Amino acid sequence: MERTLSIIKPDGVKKNLIGEVIKRFQDQGITVAAIKMMQLTQKQAEGFYAVHKERPFFNSLTDFMTSGPIVVMVLEGEDVIARNRKLMGATNFKEADEGTIRRDFATDIEQNVVHGSDAPETAAFEIGYFFNSMEIVG
Ligand code: GDP
Repeated sequence: MERTLSIIKPDGVKKNLIGEVIKRFQDQGITVAAIKMMQLTQKQAEGFYAVHKERPFFNSLTDFMTSGPIVVMVLEGEDVIARNRKLMGATNFKEADEGTIRRDFATDIEQNVVHGSDAPETAAFEIGYFFNSMEIVG
């Protein structure tokens, strides 16, 4: 069993996609082990995306991520890091495979509906960033 961090970004929440995104996970047998809705502060967004702080889009990305509520989840399942990335699709929705969340709902390379950890090390950091062990079931 593996865990990963998933975020429904502000654009996904605004487009009323919370149910749709969770349904796509659950339809694949992926379990939600923790969930909460919150609005990030600028500091919290900068800490979460610290690996990107030298990128030209860093300020724009943190502004976007603080622009409205998000839904943060711990997902659990076999090979869930890779499977979630597959369900999400490529960062740029124009390059995402058909039937993926980003291809179906994203409108912009930045406003791309969902976040998902990309490796076991980042999953561990990102889950710990948002949840303590008592908040995760299973
Ligand atoms: P991810 O793992 O697929 O989310 O992609 P990255 O880790 O490379 O980038 C993190 C997030 O930054 C993406 O999901 C986008 O929201 C945003 N992003 C990535 N590349 C760009 C870009 O070229 N321009 C802008 N404005 N945002 C970007």
